[in-house]
Amino acid sequence: MAGPGGGGRGGMGGRYLTEEEKKSQPKITGALLRRVFSYLTPYWKQLLLVVLLIAVSSVFGLMPSILTGRIIDEGLIGRNMSALIRLILLSLAVTFGSSLIGVAETYLNTWIAEHITYDMRGKMYRHLQQMSQRFFTTNNQGDIITRMTSDIAGVQSIITSTLTSILSNSITLIVAMIAMYRKNWVLATIGIIIVPLFTIPTRRAGKTRWDITREAQETSDEINGILNETLSVSGQLLVKLFGKEEREYQKYDGANARMVKLNIRERMAGRWFIMILHTFTSIGPMLLYLVGGILMMKYDSNLTVGDITVLVALLGRMYGPVNSLLNIQVDWIRSMAMFTRIFEYFDMPVEIQNAPDAVRMPSADGSVEFRNVDFSYDGDRQILKDVSFTLESGRSVAIVGPSGSGKSTMINLIPRLYDVGAGCVLFGGTDVRKIDLADLRSHVGIVSQETYLFNGTIRENLLYAKEDATEEEMIEACKKANIYDFIERQETGLDTMVGNRGLKLSGGEKQRISIARVLLKDPALLIFDEATSALDSISKAKIQEAIEPLIQSRTSILIAHRLSTILAADEILVLKDGQIVERGTHEKLVRAGGTYTELYETQFSKALVGSGGDDGISEEGKAFLFASDTDPEAY
Ligand code: ATP
Repeated sequence: MAGPGGGGRGGMGGRYLTEEEKKSQPKITGALLRRVFSYLTPYWKQLLLVVLLIAVSSVFGLMPSILTGRIIDEGLIGRNMSALIRLILLSLAVTFGSSLIGVAETYLNTWIAEHITYDMRGKMYRHLQQMSQRFFTTNNQGDIITRMTSDIAGVQSIITSTLTSILSNSITLIVAMIAMYRKNWVLATIGIIIVPLFTIPTRRAGKTRWDITREAQETSDEINGILNETLSVSGQLLVKLFGKEEREYQKYDGANARMVKLNIRERMAGRWFIMILHTFTSIGPMLLYLVGGILMMKYDSNLTVGDITVLVALLGRMYGPVNSLLNIQVDWIRSMAMFTRIFEYFDMPVEIQNAPDAVRMPSADGSVEFRNVDFSYDGDRQILKDVSFTLESGRSVAIVGPSGSGKSTMINLIPRLYDVGAGCVLFGGTDVRKIDLADLRSHVGIVSQETYLFNGTIRENLLYAKEDATEEEMIEACKKANIYDFIERQETGLDTMVGNRGLKLSGGEKQRISIARVLLKDPALLIFDEATSALDSISKAKIQEAIEPLIQSRTSILIAHRLSTILAADEILVLKDGQIVERGTHEKLVRAGGTYTELYETQFSKALVGSGGDDGISEEGKAFLFASDTDPEAY
């Protein structure tokens, strides 16, 4: 941070608002300001201290300029050596004191800003965690991260920079003006008229330069576009085949010539700017010397050389603050826009939350019932229509259907990642919307297609499901999930890092680790979303081996794509366009000649044909298939 009262503080980004910023300027209302200040109020004591420090350091900052007058009058002109030394030492001490206070002020300022952003980040993170799956699927992840990071960081800069800038510059100006008036009112008035005049040309020059820079940027983009298009392999081919060389050259030449003019104008605008700046900054002092001289020599015999020097020095200290204060508006609008964007997120309602009368369910039997469930993501397109089925405790159901028929959507409704549009979903006999969310989710375990492992060790990923799991429990779960052999082969065993910073796992290995994770969670209901992606047959078989006994031992829902998984379930639901169109056993459905038969012919049978025995289908499954009167050869 610059010294107090120095060249003016403040500034985030460019000095002028972009067109986009101008268009999306927030409406600065009293309510918005009150809300912004509500984040400052817990720190009012520290803020008050900062204001005090800024005031003292601004006054101290001006002191050397004021003391210069006495150094000249008393020390130099008065030929008083002891006064000269005393004043010089005083001036140095004041400068040192002012810098020291500046350090304390920066510390306190940063402390406040950091604490305010800490509060905001924490509040935002908590809020985002409560947001529904819908929020995360409809909002761009980049946008969410930007609000968490840059926007909140912007808020920090308004405190450390904009607010301090307003305060210190205003105080410097006021103190300088008072000091000038105390010396001589005529000269002070001249100075106060000159300072704002100085800012007019600099602002104009700055604006012109900014406009030219923007235009130059656009032209440069245009030139790059032309080059990219016409100098690429396919672009050149097109130009050649259509004989457009001359036309393309003309287009390029036009933009190129414009660029030359703009570059010259930009450079010259900068040059004019410096010239105007120099002239104006020297007009002020010269005018003061002239008028001061006339006053001193002709009218006011009390005015000293020292006084005039002080007035000129103070005038010099006013340009910076005036300029900064005039530019503050841009920072202010930007900061308010950031606050508005942050508040927009805070104001998004939490879609899925505990009902006031939510019941706790310390244990559950895992049974599920869908009663006439309708669901739509956007309120427009119905994804599930009148879906009803019952899954009794201890039994399993396989959901099959074409891609996009709504299978994943159905299971998302059980742990309330989304809420039904109409009808209801019951878990353990209670409407899921009436169950305590944390309880509900603790009873449902999902092995999804897109397995997500955190960046960390295998152990840490497993402990995510059960913090106090013992080594034995973890090994047991890994064995059951058919992943222990793999873990044992790793040098560091369970402590092997996975994810970005460690071992890259295959889709099958990840899914088996996530099966082990769900096993540790030991949920009443297990949901298994089978991977459609091409896993190799060994991986498939290993997952199959892991999942089959699990299905037998607990209430489960399987989104199945492979015959062997389907055969492991007690009942099959066939979903098409969001409706259950068929249900029953494999044997019954395959004979029915409907959607299931179609799926069986086009998809499931692939698991059988050409897989050379490593198809992941259990022996029982094959026995069943071949024993039934469906002839696999026919498919
Ligand atoms: P697959 O077998 O390919 O995984 P699926 O049967 O599981 O498909 P769903 O994922 O349930 O199908 O999707 C059903 C329909 O809902 C699809 O048309 C899909 O485009 C739409 N859909 C899925 N998720 C969302 C979402 N978050 N927002 C809007 N539409 C969605």
